[in-house]
Amino acid sequence: MELLNGNEVSKIIKLSIKEEVAKRKAAGQKTPHLAAILVGADGASMTYVAAKEKDCKEVGFDSTVLRFEASMSEEELLAEVEKINQNKDIDGLIVQLPLPKHINEKRVTEAISFKKDVDGFHPMNVGMMFKGLKTFLPATPYGIIKLLEHYGIETSGKNCVVIGRSDIVGKPMSALMLQKNCTVTICHSKTQNLSDFTLRADIIIAALGIPLFLKAEMVKEGAVVIDVGITRVEDASNKNGYKLKGDVDFDSVASKCSYITPVPGGVGPMTRVGLLLNTLDAVSHESHLF
Ligand code: NAD
Repeated sequence: MELLNGNEVSKIIKLSIKEEVAKRKAAGQKTPHLAAILVGADGASMTYVAAKEKDCKEVGFDSTVLRFEASMSEEELLAEVEKINQNKDIDGLIVQLPLPKHINEKRVTEAISFKKDVDGFHPMNVGMMFKGLKTFLPATPYGIIKLLEHYGIETSGKNCVVIGRSDIVGKPMSALMLQKNCTVTICHSKTQNLSDFTLRADIIIAALGIPLFLKAEMVKEGAVVIDVGITRVEDASNKNGYKLKGDVDFDSVASKCSYITPVPGGVGPMTRVGLLLNTLDAVSHESHLF
């Protein structure tokens, strides 16, 4: 079994992004600039935004974080999004989800100009992705593809099972694995006899958010297992009071796999790199519709 080390691979990719940014600056070209909007004070969201800010700094991007009270109205948020859409200095915009309940996430996501939508959530970008056109890819699936490519994992003709059908992970992941010539099956909460599918899979991508869901008896010998799940599980022995758990029962599954991602240190850092790559594409207008 070999670990798919997202920490290591993300470092390598970040270094190449940093070099690219330095080249741009030396040539007098624009510095990539990512803006993030954070509404409210959700602990996990604040951590994610801080991590994104740190990543930008590390590779030489400019970054701006706009923080607003949870009581802000939907109209006020839409007005802030529009201001950034019009701001020529900002290349990419993310609105950290989840938003407070009184704000319609779909409306906000669709208000972001698709040319600055570096999360790849806008229907225009989703459509282009499904057609296989160059566009911003949702960061988690994008990062996973980069990880598989880095380790030279064969995808062509392989059976891939994606567990989960969310708009941000499961659905785009299945589209990208199809483009990599896998035979793709999407399993979800209504799937019956899920093991019948996973036991035939050469590649399993677990993205359902149920800690330790995938057990050894559900996995074929030699499979590649990608664990997207991150759930905070209470743990008094840890200084934060919680521990991060994946969707894969790593201890039992690992010995059966050819490759497996750890949690943490697998998909998480690759997701962060996905966002940086999209922002670099945004500044250099690397999208089909620019
Ligand atoms: P989600 O809640 O939107 O979707 C979960 C999906 O799992 C649904 O499509 C549902 O049908 C499916 N599902 C639920 N129970 C199931 C079951 N018993 N059997 C089969 N399928 C089942 O979640 P999401 O946003 O796609 O995230 C999934 C997990 O990945 C979460 O733990 C999330 O925190 C994590 N995540 C991690 C990263 C990262 O960077 N590592 C990024 C995004 C999401």
